[in-house]
Amino acid sequence: MTKRVIIATKNQGKAKEFQNMFAPYGYEVQTLLDLPHIDDVEETGSTFEENAILKAETVAEELGAMVIADDSGLAVDALDGRPGVYSARYAGLEKSDEANIDKVLDELKDVPNGDRSARFHCVLAIAGPGMETRTVTGTCDGQILQERRGTNGFGYDPVFFVPSLGKSMAELLPKEKSSISHRGIALEKLGALITDLV
Ligand code: IMP
Repeated sequence: MTKRVIIATKNQGKAKEFQNMFAPYGYEVQTLLDLPHIDDVEETGSTFEENAILKAETVAEELGAMVIADDSGLAVDALDGRPGVYSARYAGLEKSDEANIDKVLDELKDVPNGDRSARFHCVLAIAGPGMETRTVTGTCDGQILQERRGTNGFGYDPVFFVPSLGKSMAELLPKEKSSISHRGIALEKLGALITDLV
C-alpha cells in the first residue's frame, strides 16, 4: 500500500517541493490542490508558528487525518524583517510572485549590496487526531540580488542569493535547493518525528 502524507497547502511551488522531498521515501504527497472540497485556511496568526499550527490543526480536524502544514516567508534585514508572515500577499491578495519580487526590489533600490542580507524562515507543524501538535523550524541565510537570476523554484527564489553556493535559489536544482533550504532543514528535523508517528 502506498504511504500517503497530506500537506495543508494550495501553493503549487511548495506542493512540488514536498512531492520531490517525500518521493525517495515512497510517500505519495497529497495537498489541498488534490482535495478541492477543503478550503485554504486563512492565515490570521502573527507568527510563522501560529499560522503553521492553525493550518495543520484546521485541516487535520476536517480530514480526520495526520496533516503537515508549512508557513514560511522571507525576512529582509533592511526592511525590518518584512515581508515576513505577509510574504505571499506582500504586493496584494492576488498573491503574485512577480509583483512581490518587484515590490521588494523597489523597496531595496537604494540599498547597497553589503546591506541586502535576508533569510527564509520555515515552520512545519504536524497535527492529527489524538496527537499533540508538534512544530520544527528551518532558516536559510542569503542576500537579495539587484535583479532576478534563474527560473527554478517559486516565490522570491530568483532574487535570493545563496553565498555558500554562489547562485540564486532559482538557479539551483530541486535537490540542491532542498539540501540547504529553510524547508529542507525543517523537513529533516520533522523526519525523525514522522518515523515515530507514521
Ligand atoms: P505561506 O503560504 O503564507 O507560507 O507563504 C509563503 C510565501 O513565502 C510564498 O508564497 C513565497 O512568497 C515565500 N516563500 C516561502 N518559501 C519560499 C521559498 O522556498 N522560495 C521562495 N519564496 C518562498
